[in-house]
Amino acid sequence: MADLLAGKTALILGVANKWSLAYAIAQAFVREGGKLILTYQGERQKATVQELGQELSPDTEVLACDVTIQQELDNVVNTLRAGHAKLDVIVHSIAFANREDLSRPFVETSRDGYLLAQEVSAYSLVAVARAFAPLMTDGGSILTLSYLGAVRVIPNYNVMGVAKAALEASVRYLAHDLGPVNIRVNAISAGPVKTASARAVKDFSKMLDGVAANAPLRRNADPAEVADTAVFLASNLGRGVTGNVIYVDAGFQIMGLPTAAQEQSHDR
Ligand code: NAD
Repeated sequence: MADLLAGKTALILGVANKWSLAYAIAQAFVREGGKLILTYQGERQKATVQELGQELSPDTEVLACDVTIQQELDNVVNTLRAGHAKLDVIVHSIAFANREDLSRPFVETSRDGYLLAQEVSAYSLVAVARAFAPLMTDGGSILTLSYLGAVRVIPNYNVMGVAKAALEASVRYLAHDLGPVNIRVNAISAGPVKTASARAVKDFSKMLDGVAANAPLRRNADPAEVADTAVFLASNLGRGVTGNVIYVDAGFQIMGLPTAAQEQSHDR
C-alpha cells in the first residue's frame, strides 16, 4: 500500500484478540508503515496481546492499561516519556457494560450498571485524551469507535447506546479543546461485527441479519473497512476532519424504513 503512516507512532487501546476491531486497525496501520504501541486490560490478556503484537511487527511495544485505573494510565505515560516516545495517533477501542444490561429492558438499568458503562465506554476517552495529548507534540489524531445505538434505539443495546451518545458528545468537546494544538478527535461508527464484546448484546446475530437485508450495500461492513477509515483519519489525508462521526456500516444508518418492507410494498 501507500505508507500513509510512515514515521507515525500509534497507541492502540482495545486489542483483546484477533477479532477485535482494534486488531484490524493495528494490521492496517502496520501495512501503512506505522509503529505500534498496544495496551492490554489485565494479566489475563497479557500473553495474547504480546503474541499478537509480535506477529504484527517485532518492534511493537506492549503495556498494561486498564482505563478505570488512573495509576495504569499514568504508568503508560511515564514509560513512554522515559523512552522519549512521541505519539501521533491514539485509537480508543474500548467499551464495557454488564451483560444483564444488554438483554433486559433499558428501564431496568441499575445505577451501578449505568455508571460502569459510562466510565469504561465514555469517560475513558476523556481520561485517555487528558493523559496522552501532551505526548502528541506535533499534533495528531485521536479516534474512537461508536455505534448507531448512540443516536437511534437499537433493542438490547440499551445502556451502551446511552454511553455511546456520551462518547460522541465527548468527541466534539475534545475536538474543540484540542484543535488549537492540532490534535483531531473523531469517531468511527461501525456497523455490527461479531467480536467478544458484541456477543454480549442479546440477539446480536439478528442485528447482523437486519443490516445484511436492509443496508444499501446489502451486506455487513467488514473490520478491514473500519480499519481503512481509521487509516484515513490517522493519516495526513484526514487533516481537515475533526469532531466528526464517520459511519462505516454499508450505509445502514441512512435508512428510514427497512428495505424488506419497501420491497414487499412494491410486490403489492
Ligand atoms: P472487543 O471485545 O474485541 O474489544 C473491546 C475491548 O475493550 C477489549 O480489548 C477489552 O479489553 C477492552 N476493555 C474493556 N474494559 C476495559 C478497561 N477497563 N480497560 C481497558 N480496556 C478495556 O470488541 P470490539 O467489538 O472490537 O469493541 C471495540 C470497540 O468497538 C468498542 O468501543 C465497541 O463498542 C465498538 N464497536 C463495536 C461494534 C461491533 O459490532 N463489534 C460496532 C460498533 C462499535
